[in-house]
Amino acid sequence: MKFSYISHLHCPKCREKYEFNIIQQLCACGSPLLVDYDLQELKKRWGPAALAGRSNDLWRYHELLPVTDPDNIVTLGEGMTPLLRMDRLGAAMGIGQLWMKDEGVIPTGSFKARGAAVGVSKAKELAIQELAMPTNGNAGAAWSLYAARAGIRATIVMPVGAPEITRNECAISGANLYLVNGLISDAGQIVGQAVKEHGLFDASTLKEPYRIEGKKTMGLEIVEQLQWKVPDVILYPTGGGVGLIGIYKALKELIELGWIEDKLPRLVAVQAAGCAPIVKAWEEGKSVSEFWENSATAAFGINVPKALGDFLVLEAVYESGGCAVAIDDDTLLKELGTIASLEGAFVCPEGAATFAAARQLREGGWIKEGETVIALNTGSGIKYPETVNVQVPVLEPGARLTRR
Ligand SMILES: *Cc1c(COP(=O)(O)O)cnc(C)c1O
Ligand SMILES: [Zn+2]
Repeated sequence: MKFSYISHLHCPKCREKYEFNIIQQLCACGSPLLVDYDLQELKKRWGPAALAGRSNDLWRYHELLPVTDPDNIVTLGEGMTPLLRMDRLGAAMGIGQLWMKDEGVIPTGSFKARGAAVGVSKAKELAIQELAMPTNGNAGAAWSLYAARAGIRATIVMPVGAPEITRNECAISGANLYLVNGLISDAGQIVGQAVKEHGLFDASTLKEPYRIEGKKTMGLEIVEQLQWKVPDVILYPTGGGVGLIGIYKALKELIELGWIEDKLPRLVAVQAAGCAPIVKAWEEGKSVSEFWENSATAAFGINVPKALGDFLVLEAVYESGGCAVAIDDDTLLKELGTIASLEGAFVCPEGAATFAAARQLREGGWIKEGETVIALNTGSGIKYPETVNVQVPVLEPGARLTRR
C-alpha cells in the first residue's frame, strides 16, 4: 500500500494535466487546479474497515490526501470534530434530524486548520520555505501557526477590520503580518504583487491545490460519522467556497470508491446578505459570479466579494440539487443567541448563518420534515467576542440578588 494515491493535478476548466511532485499554483488558463487520485487502484485495496484503529484526526484518510511521505505531516491534531445532534433547536425549527458538524473545537479555533494542515504539509514536502497569503483572519491565523510548526516563513496581509484575535494568532507565531485599510480583495492584490517581486509561494485561497484536500475531510468525516449514510442536506457558510467544493469532491470520490451509495446531499451555499455574489449568480442561473461591491457583514469569514472558485461552487450546488441562500446580519446574530441558549453551543457568526438558512428553508418547505440536515459551524464563537453585547447589572459587594 502506498501512503497516498495521488496521481496528478488537473484543470477543471481546460482539462490540462499537471504533475504533483513539483510546485504548482494556478493552471496556465488561470483556473484553480484539483487533485486526482488513482481511485481504481485504491478501490481494490482499501475499505472502511481499514480505518479502524487509525488516528482520530483527518490523517486517518491519508490515502485520499496529497502528502506522500508521512514524515512531512505537520499536525496539531486537527479533524474528527464532533457531529452533534441539535434536538432542541431542530424541534423549534421543525427539523427532526438536525445536526451540527462543530469545527469550533479544532486547533486555531476555525476549520481553516484543515486546509492549513494539509496545505502546509504539502508545502513542506515540496521544500517551500516562504509563503504569502491574503486573509479575512482565520486562514492567516491557521497558516501562520502551521507554518511556524513546519519551520516555514509566512507573510500575511489582512483587512484592519478582521477579527482582532486572528491578528494575535499571526503575530504570536512570528509571521510577517500586515494590515490593509480595505477588503480581502485589496490584501490579495498586495500579496499578488509581493509574490511576483519576491518569488514567494502564493498560498492564497485556491491558488495552491492542496487546501481543498484538507477541507474535503469534513465531507469524509460527516459520512463516516453517519455510518457511511449520505445526509439529505448540508449547509455551508460560503466565502471562497473551498469547503463546499471540498465536500462535493470528497463525496464523489467515496461514490467512486463504492463506500457510499450513488447520491449527493443537496449542498446549500449560505452567504451574508451584505456579500452574496454566489446567491445572486445562482438566482440568475449563472455559472460564474460577479464582484460584489461594498461588501459588509459581521460574518467576516464569508466576506469574499469574488471567489476564484465561484464556478466550482456553483457547479456543486447545481449538480447536487442544492440552492444558495443569503442571511442578513440581524437574523444570523439572533440565531447565534438562539443556538447558545437552546443547545449550549457558542458558534461563530458564519456558523449561525447556516442554522438561520436551515430555518428559512424549512419554513419555505425546501427542507422536508424527516430529512437529515447538517449545518456546519466553521469556528468557535469565542473568536468573535465583539458579536455579543453584554448588559447586565453590576452589584456592590454584599448586595442581595433580585430574581429576574
Ligand atoms: C473562511 C471561513 C469561511 C468560509 O470558508 P470558504 O471555504 O472560504 O468558503 C466560513 N467560516 C469561517 C469561520 C471562516 O473562517
Ligand atoms: Zn486550465
